[in-house]
Amino acid sequence: MKLLAVGTVAYDAIETPFGKTDKILGGAATYIGLAASKLGTEVNLISVVGGDFQQKYLDLLENHKIGIQGIEKVEDGKTFFWSGIYHEDMNSRDTLVTELNVLESFNPVIPEDLKNSEVLMLGNLHPAVQLSVIEQMSEKPKLIVLDTMDFWMNSTWDLLLKVIAKVDVITINDSEARQLSGEFSLVKAAKKIQQLGPKFVVIKKGEHGALLFHKEQVFFAPAMPLEEILDPTGAGDSFAGGMTGYLAKSEDFAFENLKKAIIVGSALASYTVEKFGVERLVELTQQEFESRLESFKTLTSYDYNI
Ligand code: AMP
Repeated sequence: MKLLAVGTVAYDAIETPFGKTDKILGGAATYIGLAASKLGTEVNLISVVGGDFQQKYLDLLENHKIGIQGIEKVEDGKTFFWSGIYHEDMNSRDTLVTELNVLESFNPVIPEDLKNSEVLMLGNLHPAVQLSVIEQMSEKPKLIVLDTMDFWMNSTWDLLLKVIAKVDVITINDSEARQLSGEFSLVKAAKKIQQLGPKFVVIKKGEHGALLFHKEQVFFAPAMPLEEILDPTGAGDSFAGGMTGYLAKSEDFAFENLKKAIIVGSALASYTVEKFGVERLVELTQQEFESRLESFKTLTSYDYNI
């Protein structure tokens, strides 16, 4: 199955307790695409960049066999720019700059031959853009996955609910799940969110892993305990890219397979945070990827006698 992902392709400037970067390649769609490409899934991106966007970054995406025909280049515009600084604990960050630039007037246009993509990943963007992408699909995708954040809950609540009603899977973090549902218990929150539309609710808890909810079933994917974490940027998007890349490849959207998909997502996110930006994801080999999937098995399996 083909995976179509919409989201930002951006320049980021990041500061963490371990270092600082100038403008580097970032954006939700970039991380989603790179993570999905590690599964050998056919993935195409829908995004927009400005005339200042370097060709070498488009080449990098193409070298990973990521389809870029849906990335519009506005020659007289500037690429979306985000800058953030992480706190000591690396779990929280402050946004220093968000320059929407070409994103401000972004009207996604899906190329004709991608309108039948079976899996659609809606990266974190304005819900109006996400809705427009859903409406342009020629056939209803077999699976629609949505990533969103508190910013859209605060600013475009009604429109966001409209998008949520149309998706099969939603990925959000724990505080956002509480905000969306008005429930403190994540179990109750996931039940309420399922009533809004999505059959599956994935609640991300940063360095504490992710929970998958479906009806009465629940599954937990841990995050890999790492010696070195340099930059958490893009972890959530890599998780989403790994998850949807795996689902598109395996063509199976049952709960049991979603369990595997969130482990794959967790494994790819664990690589992303080891270096700044996309560097670690780019250099990641198949062998390393598989070895981390094995480590997840060891991390979570045990035997007991009482
Ligand atoms: P994450 O760390 O998973 O939240 O994703 C970080 C990526 O999201 C960065 O590479 C940014 O370029 C991108 N980003 C930051 N703010 C926004 C925003 N308001 N809308 C869309 N993408 C954003």
